[in-house]
Amino acid sequence: MSRAHHPVEEPEPERETVAGPDALTFPADWHMSTSWRRVQQNETAVNPVNDAEYMVQVGDGSIHRTTAVVQDGTLCCDCDCRGWTHRRFCAHVAAIWWRWCRSETFITDRDAGRTLRRPPAWLSIEDQEVGQ
Ligand SMILES: [Zn+2]
Repeated sequence: MSRAHHPVEEPEPERETVAGPDALTFPADWHMSTSWRRVQQNETAVNPVNDAEYMVQVGDGSIHRTTAVVQDGTLCCDCDCRGWTHRRFCAHVAAIWWRWCRSETFITDRDAGRTLRRPPAWLSIEDQEVGQ
């Protein structure tokens, strides 16, 4: 067995720069979370850049690239901020959700190939008050 002979080249390690978005699950205490409070107490800017990504700013915080798209029958989200990395929930995702509930932004349903102006009834999120 010769180590010098490699018939198959080692594949490049996969980079996680374009990891697929995760299905969004709200943390149990998300109503009490700082993220949610920030969204309610600050101006938010949610600017779509393509069918799944938004540039989101909460208050005078930094602008983050946030993904929110319906695919495989659920809402999938991703964000490049630390909050998302650590907790799988952040003010930017919360801001998109907040606005979507108020028809102030849209989310693409990739399964159906259309745009949703509000969270559809089949998208079960446990708290009804959110949509008020
Ligand atoms: Zn974020």
